[in-house]
Amino acid sequence: MQNTKLKVLKFGGTSMANASAIKKVCDIVKSDVANKFIVVSAPGKREKADIKVTDLLYEAFEQEKKTGECSKALDKVQKRFEDIIKELNLNLDLSSDFEAIKLEIKNQPSNCYIASRGEYLSAKVFASAIGYEFVDASEIIRFSTCGRFLDLTTKELARRRLKDTKGAVIGGFYGANELGTIWTFSRGGSDVTGSIIAGAMGVCVYENWTDVDGFMAADPRIVDKPDIIEMMTYKELRELSYMGASVLHSDSIFPLRKKDIPIHIRNTFNPKAVGTLIVPTKKFVAGDFKRKARTVTGIAGKKFFIAIFIEKSMMNDEIGFARRVLSCLEKHEISLEQMPAGIDTLTILFDGTFVSDEKLKLLLEDINLECSPDNLIVEKDLALIAVVGHGMSRNKGTAARVCSSLCKADVNIRLLDQGSSELNIIVGIELADFEKAIKALHKEFHKN
Ligand code: ASP
Repeated sequence: MQNTKLKVLKFGGTSMANASAIKKVCDIVKSDVANKFIVVSAPGKREKADIKVTDLLYEAFEQEKKTGECSKALDKVQKRFEDIIKELNLNLDLSSDFEAIKLEIKNQPSNCYIASRGEYLSAKVFASAIGYEFVDASEIIRFSTCGRFLDLTTKELARRRLKDTKGAVIGGFYGANELGTIWTFSRGGSDVTGSIIAGAMGVCVYENWTDVDGFMAADPRIVDKPDIIEMMTYKELRELSYMGASVLHSDSIFPLRKKDIPIHIRNTFNPKAVGTLIVPTKKFVAGDFKRKARTVTGIAGKKFFIAIFIEKSMMNDEIGFARRVLSCLEKHEISLEQMPAGIDTLTILFDGTFVSDEKLKLLLEDINLECSPDNLIVEKDLALIAVVGHGMSRNKGTAARVCSSLCKADVNIRLLDQGSSELNIIVGIELADFEKAIKALHKEFHKN
């Protein structure tokens, strides 16, 4: 199924945050008849100190659990929607929805239902503002009873429900299982909903509207005015967003990959900006968009990794050593990130954000028991930085430039890894050097 003239447009939290932003969104949607499938987030922050509606909803769940009452947080959510409705002059009353939420929250064992209500109500409001049909995402986005996303069923449901619509507004971030219980994707998951709908409907492009001019070559909180990447591939996006670049949820690519549907990142508050076009391959031809001939497309990093250095003499002769180490990680449900190895050494590196001291202690005990190493050293507080770009493939000197620019910036490299795909080079450094390293790498590859 290929609707080559239709588009999916997804608008993030800042685009839905207040009436004036929503008016801009209405103008964007009305500007092209192809704009038929609209996915929206819950209202986000109106200014820096504001609280996102989704965060208020999580707070309501906590209040309900502790005190059996959630009005304190929920009333704030109701007020935000009522202010928007009033300012847009809509003929819409959400009071019965809020009554229903207050009752339903009492039956909910998890916070998914309550968290999803921001997107559910946002879609109702926007449908009323634009005059499109409101489609409850629980009718089309399907999960299994244990919360696994069901791709084929969802595609089928989406096509059936949306095939004859003159225009539909769907809340992002949530769906339901076969029993009707609401499930959500991980945070930022409205991006994923948008790409699922785009994949199911086979549209010509998935436009993801946010509040920045495009995907930046480095984190703008660290680097002053980083370059905007005009064109990049899904693979580059996957590497960069997995490593912390946060414009788009990293799971957004999978539903689009098989269909070669490009993603266009655009700015609701500056619709004239070119944005970033994310395409299946570096040779993909896309109108006026040009892929810059750069060695490195972007740089991203993540903090708080833990490394365990394992040393054992004659390790290289011991069949199954790495498997035994990895089985310890599996037992403690820790996902491996990197595993550089020497002749008698092996390092395992994983995200430490959710690994408590107690869990780490048990893991070390198991590695000792299973592998009897000579030495086991734990290093906390490491950061990983990915230097990503197809341009480094078959090109000499990229690793040398990474190392010399970090050396010049007085950053010590603790670990260096380049995959055989030559799409990225990963460096492990100390947490304290994180900002310095990102700045140095951006300067080396983008500002010279
Ligand atoms: N509202 C949800 C969140 O804040 C989902 C989203 O905006 O994509 O994570």
